[in-house]
Amino acid sequence: MEQALYVYNTLTRKKEVFRPLHAPHVGMYVCGPTVYGDAHLGHARPAITFDIIFRFLRHIGYKVRYVRNITDVGHLEHDADEGEDKIAKKARLEQLEPMEVAQYYTNRFHEAMNALNCLPPSIEPHATGHIIEQQQLVQQILDNGFAYESNGSVYFDVEKYNQKYKYGILSGRNLENVKDASRDLAGVGEKRNQADFALWKAAQPEHIMRWPSPWSSGFPGWHCECTAMGRKYLGAHFDIHGGGMDLIFPHHECEIAQAVASQGEQMVTYWLHNNMITIEGQKMGKSLGNFITLPQFFSGDHPKLDRAYSPMTIRFFILQAHYRSTVDFSNDALQAAEKGLERLLDAWKALQSITPTANGSVCINSVETLKQQCYDALYDDFNTPIVISNLFEATKTINSIVDKKETITPDALEALKETFSLFVFDLLGIKAGSAAAADGSGNDAREEAFGKVVDMLLEQRAKAKANKDWATSDMIRDNLAALGFEVKDTKDGFTWKLNK
Ligand SMILES: [Zn+2]
Repeated sequence: MEQALYVYNTLTRKKEVFRPLHAPHVGMYVCGPTVYGDAHLGHARPAITFDIIFRFLRHIGYKVRYVRNITDVGHLEHDADEGEDKIAKKARLEQLEPMEVAQYYTNRFHEAMNALNCLPPSIEPHATGHIIEQQQLVQQILDNGFAYESNGSVYFDVEKYNQKYKYGILSGRNLENVKDASRDLAGVGEKRNQADFALWKAAQPEHIMRWPSPWSSGFPGWHCECTAMGRKYLGAHFDIHGGGMDLIFPHHECEIAQAVASQGEQMVTYWLHNNMITIEGQKMGKSLGNFITLPQFFSGDHPKLDRAYSPMTIRFFILQAHYRSTVDFSNDALQAAEKGLERLLDAWKALQSITPTANGSVCINSVETLKQQCYDALYDDFNTPIVISNLFEATKTINSIVDKKETITPDALEALKETFSLFVFDLLGIKAGSAAAADGSGNDAREEAFGKVVDMLLEQRAKAKANKDWATSDMIRDNLAALGFEVKDTKDGFTWKLNK
């Protein structure tokens, strides 16, 4: 932690030096999914962004408690205060228990996150498991005079709050804009002002997800859970709160108002937000037919997809842009990312078979420079595209060594292997697939054993060739090719990779 870490704080709109409240401990809360459908590219981005932040903070010595919630109640359609609960609607349509829907999509979400190699958070609290904490939050806000009851529902009094504190500090909106924007929404009848938002909703008779409360049998407003669970697991003041930029307003703005209205001051020091993903220049939306889920990406089963893309291709594609820039999906962009990743992993594989020379042209200093440039990029607001471009430069050097245009000293070779492994696998979180090294790095024992079988076959082929037994030699190569193995003959023998 000798080097200063800079993070962009949405609240102050500038890059600031990261100073945790209780170093070496860091508290980080990230808004998780509403579990009523499969995760899509829009879920992959925050998951990967905060996975990088989690990995890097841990790597530089912090003990991070990473909390990411599961929203399984209270998130109404159109992110509004009226309308059906997203989980309850799905349950009604599919004739399932709401918890069955939530559990099913939570499991599917975990599978997708695992495939993307996102480390699991330290705590993953569910909104339905924290109804009491949310009721306590609502009661505190009522006691402090910043909320009111109306027909069994409780609303946050934005106007009253704005008289004492300022509403809109995170999004930069003022109350007048908010009022104008929310004028057309339904449910104004119960509210004193259009800008007020629900803390507790009285359930309609047909509503199945409901809990008893001092105000009515009902359910918490969507924004309550993150304030209540963040405080429960990270304390009244913690370091990082993250999520997608689409959550800045209203969700995070309302969270700030709830925290201040209940405890008199803010909870969070640094607000971090990842930018959005567009699909061929358009916003992703179910009505536009460009809504592609992660399982569809992995299987290729969507009209917009030319073919399947591996989870690591998706991960690498997302990391090629800085988390605060927009990313535009297209088949071409994904295929370019796939090629780039392959180039990097091929270089890693080649690195394993390089023989160093005592007075090589590539020495330890140039590797140290590469390593420092990669570190500098991550210390500068987690700039993964700069890390990747540095690794591509290193890839060129590795290829020149393979082509015997350059040579490398033994200590530089060791340092280069370490640097590559640290940034590619540990910090960017790339999992080496079958195209990568057969030395066990990121590969499981099964893959390694299969790789050895291929080597064995190719050694048989080399023997057949030496004996001028062309029929056997061709048969081995053709059969391997039919299975997707690309075999190349080189001066020193052969190389192979699996194109799948
Ligand atoms: Zn949230």
